[in-house]
Amino acid sequence: MPATTQDADGGARPLVECESLVRIHQHGTVEVQALQGLDLTVGAGEMIAVVGPSGAGKSTLLAVLAGADRPTAGRARVDGWDLTDLTRAQRLAYRRSVVGFVRQQTARNLVPYLTARGNVEQPLALAGHPRRTRAARADELLDAVGVASCADRLPAQMSGGEQQRTAIAVALANGPRLLLADEPTGELDSATAQEVFGTLRAAQREAGVTVVVVTHDPAVSDQVERTVAVRDGRTSTETLRRTEVADDGAARVIAQEYAVMDRAGRVQVPREYREALALTRRVRLALEADRVSLLPDRQAG
Ligand code: ADP
Repeated sequence: MPATTQDADGGARPLVECESLVRIHQHGTVEVQALQGLDLTVGAGEMIAVVGPSGAGKSTLLAVLAGADRPTAGRARVDGWDLTDLTRAQRLAYRRSVVGFVRQQTARNLVPYLTARGNVEQPLALAGHPRRTRAARADELLDAVGVASCADRLPAQMSGGEQQRTAIAVALANGPRLLLADEPTGELDSATAQEVFGTLRAAQREAGVTVVVVTHDPAVSDQVERTVAVRDGRTSTETLRRTEVADDGAARVIAQEYAVMDRAGRVQVPREYREALALTRRVRLALEADRVSLLPDRQAG
């Protein structure tokens, strides 16, 4: 499988496509709109970070992409699978073969009474991998994530970082196209967090897996080429990073923040911009040669 598939204009072909995604949780008469028309595209082989305040809808987005939660409206496609319309059998097949998932709680990722090898063997067994080669395949995966020495240990006998790396080996066991990680470094100190991030990065670079990682940790989000910010159930901004080499040979990371425009042309103006110019319900848009200006309504107030 190629690491990335390129389309005609040179960009990576999308592996993940969410369009106007809505997820409403209903509790009796109370409705909570966890996703309110979210748009997101992730290229095959890309690694992105998803950031945003608590309650913004990040976990709901991951649950939809994991095939664990069904969107209320909108479109979500991963590697050609339409996640809005899966039968039970398709959902199971999707979860077993297309996605891998790593959670924040190190203990919840692994079965406590199985060794690291036993944990990695489980998804291999479910996928029908022959018994006689399972242990060897599990050892290969543990070696690839740098925890070969933990093969015979139970989760309780491993450090938090070793547990998370084992969890990544479990998530990668069936060769998923998409690896989802929800705050995978949230319980780790910064040095261990770097190691776990490095393991995710290696899965992306060496195995060509597409990685979506939800994180509060700037040390993680600052190292990926694209960070998507989710706010009120929608993507609000994207930050793109590229490395530039200056004349003196020093490499510098240039980060540029962009507002996200949906298909209907809607752009969210950040609160601080609105407050600075007292922009309220009505604004004037002016098309100029190379920009669109947004001006306060002088008749307001
Ligand atoms: P984040 O991961 O960004 O913190 P979540 O996706 O967990 O956000 O939650 C988004 C919103 O949806 C929140 O208001 C949350 O309370 C609500 N929510 C999430 N899951 C459920 C659920 N199972 N039932 C009801 N409300 C939920």
